[in-house]
Amino acid sequence: MSAIGIDLGTTNSCVAVYRNERIEIIANDQGSRVTPSWVSFTDTERLIGATAKEEASMNHENTLFHIKRLIGRKFNDPSVQHDMKHWSFKVVDVGGQPKIQVTFKEETKLFRPEEISAMILTELKEVAEVYIGTQISDAVITVPAYFNDAQRTATRDAGRIAGLNVLRMINEPTAAAIAYGLEVKIEKKRNVLIFDLGGGTFDVTIVAIENQVFDVKATGGDTHLGGGDFDNRMLEHFIKEFNTKHKVDITKNNRAVSRLKFACEPAKKKLSVSTHATVQVDGLYNGLDFKSNITRAKFEELNADFFDGTISVVENVIADAKMKKDEIDDIVLAGGSTRIPKIRSLLTDFFNGKEISRNINPDEAVAYGAAVLAENIRTGKDKTQERFKLQDVIPFSIGTCVRGTDMCVIIPRNTKIPTKEMSVFSTFSDNQTSARFEVFEGENSKVKDNHLLGSFLLTGISPKPAGEANILSVFGIDGSGVLKVVALDLASGNANDITITNDERRLAEKEIDDMIAAAETMKVGDNTAKEKYNAINKLEELVYKVNQLVESDSATISPREKKGLLAKSKEVFDFAKSNESADIKSIRQKTSELEAYFNKVREYSEYLKSPEGILKILADESKTGYLPATDFS
Ligand code: ADP
Ligand code: MG
Repeated sequence: MSAIGIDLGTTNSCVAVYRNERIEIIANDQGSRVTPSWVSFTDTERLIGATAKEEASMNHENTLFHIKRLIGRKFNDPSVQHDMKHWSFKVVDVGGQPKIQVTFKEETKLFRPEEISAMILTELKEVAEVYIGTQISDAVITVPAYFNDAQRTATRDAGRIAGLNVLRMINEPTAAAIAYGLEVKIEKKRNVLIFDLGGGTFDVTIVAIENQVFDVKATGGDTHLGGGDFDNRMLEHFIKEFNTKHKVDITKNNRAVSRLKFACEPAKKKLSVSTHATVQVDGLYNGLDFKSNITRAKFEELNADFFDGTISVVENVIADAKMKKDEIDDIVLAGGSTRIPKIRSLLTDFFNGKEISRNINPDEAVAYGAAVLAENIRTGKDKTQERFKLQDVIPFSIGTCVRGTDMCVIIPRNTKIPTKEMSVFSTFSDNQTSARFEVFEGENSKVKDNHLLGSFLLTGISPKPAGEANILSVFGIDGSGVLKVVALDLASGNANDITITNDERRLAEKEIDDMIAAAETMKVGDNTAKEKYNAINKLEELVYKVNQLVESDSATISPREKKGLLAKSKEVFDFAKSNESADIKSIRQKTSELEAYFNKVREYSEYLKSPEGILKILADESKTGYLPATDFS
């Protein structure tokens, strides 16, 4: 059975598989190799991908995008609070967790980000299944290198809800490096810098590649930077402009804001190839049209801090890798936003005129690398296992709290994974029998400034004077970057491990099971919506054919016959149109009635063109008693 590689992007997702000795990027049913990570809920159906994105301006409150920015985060996370201001859909606080509220089939529904991501994953899984022709469950899913433990776990949960067996999660830039390394067939050691700027995340990673060994030297970035931010800057600019011109503030009108924002994205893309672009939205606000121009220079000025910031990240990552910039041999781009000329020129300038590699497609590199890894894991001990070796690193330092406030780093940032670190702690007070372990990630010296991953209580410690009980802790990180911590009292042998159960961020097994069940029910709904859509389509096609026949001069049909046919087709068409709730069965039945009538008329119309045909009609008539109301006069 095949294993697929999935780039689950903030903006776009992509799926690939290893087949026939090569990696194939799989096109979706619309023929596109990337699928927008959008989900839309309407009164009648759920849409995923490009069709969902198209819904945005009509149904902005129930059309979801950039959900990856919510995954694994808490509601009060400043990043969530910031994003919510720019979103047209509603995010609500349910016990500290963000849930997305939509109206679906006239009912209010709440979804966790994991569930929405699962819908996108399911869509990609199905696209791959159609392409490969078998069921698929094994997959490698990519995550930004900067994703923390909670975000990784939530992504893995999304995979499970989608019915996928997540073989491994791999950092996106590492996947891109694998794609590059295999495509370019690097033999002698090269230090490759992957610069991945997508719709919502930015990652820079340095990988040393040699003889199919991928050794990640350092990684850094920003979980909150990408093309969406550039769109927002343009949006803010136009909102101001509209305000100055018409003295109206559109910011309170979500629909107007989202319509203007959707018009900004294509303009931004145009500015990658052209020096100016036009943005136009008819009837944007109070019947006022919006039309304006923007130059590339203005766009660059609006985003100068963002663009310059990407170079600072590059500098930091090079320093983290303990390298100098001239030690970077290749620069590889990934992510749609790397098509922005200014980004490319800033990079080239920073590297003193160095050429940027054009060997891999920035939109597909990540899925490509994920599929290579999926195949590698699937075939296990098979010879392909030796095809490459992967050494990834963790993006944040992991540690625990000491002296009540201080961060004690156990595993420093950029440590290679998988890894295991042991350390021994002693008790704080006399006869202490329990100790709470708090696990943090982050680079600040005070734990309050870092991110609490979870905590657990170790009980049953043998009572001893303060400082004399020794507690061994083991911090382990697996190949997907997921953390496990175990603590053991050496005297009693009592142990506990962090499954981060008391962290409400994690989904319990039961919750995942419920979501899997809910996802299945939704799929059934999708199928019926799709079937109904197809049924109505077929009917519309038939009505079109009827009209064509009636209007065609070559058809030998009497006016009475024409009238009859038109009346029948109108009846059926109106039934389908006016009857939103009409079930598929009755639509199909009406269609076949019309089809039978149409075929008969068409058949007779053909027969009437020749004497032999007329004879046949007469013969038929004697058999069936049916004679079309053909006017011979
Ligand atoms: P992600 O990894 O976040 O899913 P992608 O790598 O697909 O994102 O990049 C999507 C982003 O790239 C979007 O913000 C999109 O507007 C932007 N983008 C795509 N093509 C271009 C282009 N030609 N010029 C500028 N930005 C682009
Ligand atoms: Mg991406």
